Amino acid sequence: MEKKIFVTQPSLPPLDDFIPYLERIWDNKWLTNNGEFHKKFEAALAEYLGVEFVSLFTNGMIALQVGMQALRITGEVITTPFTFVATTHAIHLNNCKPVFCDIEPDTYTMDPAKVEALITPRTTAIMPVHVYGNPCRHEELRRIADTYGLKLFYDAAHVFGVRKDGVSVCEWGDLSMLSFHATKVFNTFEGGALITNDGNLKKRIDFLKNFGFADEVTVVAPGSNGKMDEFRAAFGLLQLELVDGEIAKRQQIARRYREALGDVPGIRVLQDIPGVKHNYAYFPIEVDARAYGMTRDGLYDKLKANGIYSRRYFYPLCSNFPTYRGLPSATAANLPVATRVAERILCLPIYAGLAEKDQTGIINTIIGD
Ligand SMILES: *Cc1c(COP(=O)(O)O)cnc(C)c1O
Repeated sequence: MEKKIFVTQPSLPPLDDFIPYLERIWDNKWLTNNGEFHKKFEAALAEYLGVEFVSLFTNGMIALQVGMQALRITGEVITTPFTFVATTHAIHLNNCKPVFCDIEPDTYTMDPAKVEALITPRTTAIMPVHVYGNPCRHEELRRIADTYGLKLFYDAAHVFGVRKDGVSVCEWGDLSMLSFHATKVFNTFEGGALITNDGNLKKRIDFLKNFGFADEVTVVAPGSNGKMDEFRAAFGLLQLELVDGEIAKRQQIARRYREALGDVPGIRVLQDIPGVKHNYAYFPIEVDARAYGMTRDGLYDKLKANGIYSRRYFYPLCSNFPTYRGLPSATAANLPVATRVAERILCLPIYAGLAEKDQTGIINTIIGD
């Protein structure tokens, strides 16, 4: 293969469809700070996701940081090492200490059975991640959080549109963060949101994302600047019309991978979870070197030699980065499942525009024909 195939490719609406939105912004001359499109996009997102309150952000990282501040999270925060670094960084940058909890082998999400042993008098919150769009075990996490009086703040960056038993997964917890980064299922170039059922919390979040301003003369706290601008809010409105089609195409691609790779010795593929409407944000496989006859890194290199750029999300674990590896909870002994999965995981290309013949090429490279 001559052309390069990346792990994802953003979907974009026809450019002509965006022009009327731009003309409107040029007429309004209102570029940011809760403009017309911002209001419309917040309402449309709440409607689409089936949630009560949405606060738009310039990206997911700032949303995480502001969300922690809004919930007044301090001290120690129990989290997962098997995530994108933003989760751990947000905890660190909010002057809190990440405490790493191991994950489950079948969903790669935080293992609720291992949470309670990590709680100390300094613990104030649990920050799990619905990694790859797999919903966490919410009932168990909620029970632990309520028993110990902890906040439950989900990094929901991967679960856009995911539902469990008909309920939007990003409605769970005290707060959930979404990311609309270019690499996500739903993108606004850069962007993000916080989701809550608590109207007072939304109000506080909206102050904190605008420097802390409650009105012209009242600054309630040292807030950040996390506002989404009109350009991206307008673009998001347009993208919202296309996202169901994007997810449907990803589902077909996931089905084909599962059929083709399900019986390959040493390759593990996950199936849909009963009761969950998935978004197929990622297509992770696990490579067992002995059974497959090649290491995960060997397969990664082989794919790359064929122009296929798979990704080892999430290797290395966040607990192995220099800032965090000295923490008591960062040891492999505390994180046996996460450590094993990080050594084996590989995310294959999946996106609506992935051509069938390109997917065939990926499959054949893995099968070895
Ligand atoms: C993408 C991502 C983020 C960060 O979102 P940005 O919008 O890129 O700032 C945070 N957590 C997870 C798990 C992510 O995948």
